[in-house]
Amino acid sequence: MKNKEIARIFDRIADALEFQGANRFRVVAYRKAARILDDLTEDVSVLAQANKLESLPGIGHAIATKIAEYLSTGTVKKYEEVKKEIPGTLLDLLDIQNLGPKTLALAYKELGVESLKDLKQVIKTGRLEELPQMGKQKVDNIRKGIVLYERAHERLSIAAAEEIAHELIAYLKKETRIKHISAAGSLRRWKETIGDIDILATGPNSRTIITVFTQFPNAERVLAAGTTKSSILVRGGVQVDLRIVNAGSYGAALQYFTGSKAHNIRLRNIAKSKGLKLSEYGVFRGKKQIAGRNERDVYKILGLIYVPPEIREDRGEVELALKNKLPKLVEHRSIRGDLHMHSTYSDSEATIAELATAADAHGYEYILITDHSQSVTYAHGLEPKRLYAQWKEIDRLNKKLRTPHILKGVEVDIRRDGTLDYPDAILKECDFVVAAIHQGFKHKVTERMCRAMQNPYVDIIAHPTGRLISSREGYHIDLHRVMEVAAKTGTWLEINAYWDRLDLNDTNARAAHEQGVSISIGTDAHDIKGIQWMKFGVATARRAWLASKDVVNTYTLKKLRAARKVNRKK
Ligand SMILES: [Zn+2]
Ligand SMILES: [Zn+2]
Repeated sequence: MKNKEIARIFDRIADALEFQGANRFRVVAYRKAARILDDLTEDVSVLAQANKLESLPGIGHAIATKIAEYLSTGTVKKYEEVKKEIPGTLLDLLDIQNLGPKTLALAYKELGVESLKDLKQVIKTGRLEELPQMGKQKVDNIRKGIVLYERAHERLSIAAAEEIAHELIAYLKKETRIKHISAAGSLRRWKETIGDIDILATGPNSRTIITVFTQFPNAERVLAAGTTKSSILVRGGVQVDLRIVNAGSYGAALQYFTGSKAHNIRLRNIAKSKGLKLSEYGVFRGKKQIAGRNERDVYKILGLIYVPPEIREDRGEVELALKNKLPKLVEHRSIRGDLHMHSTYSDSEATIAELATAADAHGYEYILITDHSQSVTYAHGLEPKRLYAQWKEIDRLNKKLRTPHILKGVEVDIRRDGTLDYPDAILKECDFVVAAIHQGFKHKVTERMCRAMQNPYVDIIAHPTGRLISSREGYHIDLHRVMEVAAKTGTWLEINAYWDRLDLNDTNARAAHEQGVSISIGTDAHDIKGIQWMKFGVATARRAWLASKDVVNTYTLKKLRAARKVNRKK
């Protein structure tokens, strides 16, 4: 569906017009059209084909023409025009949270700001703050927005990085006689954002491997191509470095280039204390290499048990590995089901049957369908009547399909006043209830969440901080208090596995676990592909040091039901 793409363009046109100080009504017309398209559940191209665009309230002839233009040409001339009228990269800067078109226009006119660099400069010198109606608070908020903006534009999401590395490794395996190959660096540690992608390999004839690497079909530019090392840019400027190392050093190199820096410093010091030397080439006693071919041996010879890459952050893992006391981290294959999924009943592209079939291919025992509740109108939330219709369909499907068992759930909205969006009579009938905040992000979030957790039927709090890695800071929330109440009430906190959320994140999930909270992982799938995000949820759980028993998705359905707080013996 092109709905969202076009909505974004209309929003951009409105931004540009507002920046230029255009007539307010024109701005409003584009904003309104953007909102309508954003909310629209039908495919806009289907409506256009049927000549029905103008039957949508708020879409006039001028806007309808622009929608048709985009659908047939892939651009909107008006948008291309306004882009030209606005200097430099100013329009892009409107992606910065808390920076509106009016403020930007003011900064441009009064201070000559034309780029992010300029903007940062006038914040630093205090000149932005001195402009009429700005003030410290506003500028502080813009500064926070810039941090998020830079993160999103300079670093790659784990999902994008993983996809590129996966393709590249498959390509090299197919086209060369490579022996060993692996991603290293922060990607191998599954950090939520990645700078450059590092790949390590061994194989005969490194020159040939490098040549093939530089011919990768998605390569946009070759930065360097030596005899054992090469760098290319792929897809819009992502740098990938390939190193070919000797088989006898592969394990040491993998350890070295996986990092983190802090973890490696600890290891080098341990080596030193034993009279050894640790480098990317191996572990050496004097000149003699005593380990290096295999990564596990590197740890072993230093007196540590193997430390999984996800926890190599110098957060206590080295001490425990020395004492052989690391927890056995949860594994992807132990996951028995997905506990957060949307169907076409609310705002997903996938039907329940499609979700079930895809989940079956993952070998899942159960899935929980959690569509939005009635007051989340922008996501087509379900009023009770449609919820009951959905349950009937689930009953039918469960009779037909052997696996997975489809569970009836909801993602019930925690309303502004702290009440839940369905009465207990409905929640009680659900197999499991997920509750979440989707509106009023600044409005008593902690109290509302804690109140929701007091409800005996609320099993899971979804995306507890509400952050989006690329674009939104979380709610103003006292997470410590939320964890306390979760532990006390037996409510599970979610690791939302969607790559732009990963919420709770690694350190928060670890803190929750340490406070006695059980964690559930949900993909929040809004289409079939979304089911695959489970791997990012599991990686986050591993980065949080969680074992299987700490993650409720590893339970059998029987155990999962017994673990609900309503079923717990007090
Ligand atoms: Zn949600
Ligand atoms: Zn959701």
